[in-house]
Amino acid sequence: MARVKVVKKARKDQGKCGRCGEEIKAGMPYRHWSFRYGGTRKRCMKAECFPKMSDLTNNEKLATFYAAVESLESARGGDKDDLASAID
Ligand SMILES: [Zn+2]
Repeated sequence: MARVKVVKKARKDQGKCGRCGEEIKAGMPYRHWSFRYGGTRKRCMKAECFPKMSDLTNNEKLATFYAAVESLESARGGDKDDLASAID
């Protein structure tokens, strides 16, 4: 899985955050990670733009698996019906 690195101060404009689309300008902090094949992803530092496990792989099967785990986690604390539908 890709490892996320944090840059505290971008040396130059980094383009748009891959999630919210906000421009990451020179001097701003940002996160980035890259895949062996398939390039680099960049995100701003907002909490909602924190990369999920499914964002950190470009293996389609793994991404599907992680997305399922994430929906299970978001269903946790809900009632059992929620959990059952998340498993579906
Ligand atoms: Zn963002």
